[in-house]
Amino acid sequence: MAWTCINCETNNADNVIHCQVCSVERYFSWNEVNLLIKKPSDIPIISGVNQQELKKIETNLKRFTTENKKLRENNKELNQKMKDLQIFHDTHTHTLENLQHETNELSKWNTMLKVWLGIMVLIVLFLFLAKVNIAIDF
Ligand SMILES: [Zn+2]
Repeated sequence: MAWTCINCETNNADNVIHCQVCSVERYFSWNEVNLLIKKPSDIPIISGVNQQELKKIETNLKRFTTENKKLRENNKELNQKMKDLQIFHDTHTHTLENLQHETNELSKWNTMLKVWLGIMVLIVLFLFLAKVNIAIDF
């Protein structure tokens, strides 16, 4: 943006402070001063800070995204393990129930056999005694 000298009205380049013809110092209007204060000083600092903040936020976001991904993977893995354990538990509960049932059946048979054995012993004893009695009678 070129500027016009207030003394000789020469158009000077933006990067020179003194007029190239009469060497009068560049005159800044109030608006130009305001623009210079706002633009070259404040905004680059703010945008610089923002740039840094943005980088920080971006880094944090990346880190959190990675962590989130990891956590989701862990969660998936744990869910799978839970499912496997549930299946394992169900299968074994079934097996355990079957074993319990079989044990009960065997226990019943065992008791029945004991009772039968007792009855048989009594019958044999009775017959033996009867035979002894018969033998004595004769
Ligand atoms: Zn001039």
